[in-house]
Amino acid sequence: MPSTMKAAVLKAPHRVEVEDVPVPSIGEPTDLLLRVEQTAICGTDLHPYEGRLELESDIILGHEFLGTVEAVGSAVTQFSEGDRVVSSCVVSCGSCYQCRRHQPGNCAGSRIFGLGLALGDLDGGQAEYVVVPSADLTARAVPTGGSANDEDILFAGDIMTTGYEAVARAMRPGDSVAVVGGGPVGLCAAMAAVALGAGQVIVIDRVKARLKEAERYGAIGVDASENDPADAVLDLTDWRGADVVVDAVGHESALISAIALVRAGGTLSIPGVYTEESLTIPFSDLYLKGVKVEMGVSHITEYMDEVIALMGAGKLRPSDMISHRMGLSEAAEAYRMFEAREATKIILDPRN
Ligand SMILES: [Zn+2]
Ligand SMILES: [Zn+2]
Repeated sequence: MPSTMKAAVLKAPHRVEVEDVPVPSIGEPTDLLLRVEQTAICGTDLHPYEGRLELESDIILGHEFLGTVEAVGSAVTQFSEGDRVVSSCVVSCGSCYQCRRHQPGNCAGSRIFGLGLALGDLDGGQAEYVVVPSADLTARAVPTGGSANDEDILFAGDIMTTGYEAVARAMRPGDSVAVVGGGPVGLCAAMAAVALGAGQVIVIDRVKARLKEAERYGAIGVDASENDPADAVLDLTDWRGADVVVDAVGHESALISAIALVRAGGTLSIPGVYTEESLTIPFSDLYLKGVKVEMGVSHITEYMDEVIALMGAGKLRPSDMISHRMGLSEAAEAYRMFEAREATKIILDPRN
């Protein structure tokens, strides 16, 4: 075991440096030490990167990662050295009231990798090694066989499962599903809606490449720079609005647009991350339409197994949206490209 490793460290907003830092070690008996083979940059990483999350010190970024177990604590029962695993981006305790009610995203002690002190101060996985706490609850074995590859499974730890949950908790087969925002989570939500038997899936964005990608998964793309999304969705749904609308953006303007698209009695599902304390939205529209709202931190570990099974059956292929594969040494440039939307989804290899 080396004593130091390379890691993508956020030094200040917009400043990522690949540094030599100490290799972490197992602290709790329920921890697992992972040698990272693949890690991805997620839209949520832009919250600390752009300075929207206050950082008290440098942080190692990254909450989507997959690799091989290097060592396990004495209380870990599901995994042993040499196993290949993917980690959930959220770590929960497994024993509190919310966890027992199958709502681990609401766990009082929930933590997210690589987002700093406010989210539990866990070092992230954009590094050669990372410690995974509560390993038996947090990690899942990478399946052998089946039609999923490692790059699909990587996304079971966050974006694919987040997108899947956003539709699975809200839709029934045959429903019309409109997704506001064709970024990675929006595309995953669209893919999941198709896999779960939606009657119609509509993706709204202004970036042509994203709409094209959505159409490859069987969705209808609506270019918001050319059409009024509300007109387009009403037109496609016999003037009712969509049964389910997913706000995969996490910005006030997207939420306002989503409220306009949902039918009376329909469901608004919000996987997009909001950090604002208050928003100005047309609340009476929500009330008069009787819209159900589903939102909050994803209950990743509750849905991961279903997602991995659907990947194995070839029904979810999120690796299709990877636009760039780069070495961890190029992390600074990768973040720049991702923020500038020059890349849909970037995978970093810590070995390069
Ligand atoms: Zn994420
Ligand atoms: Zn808990």
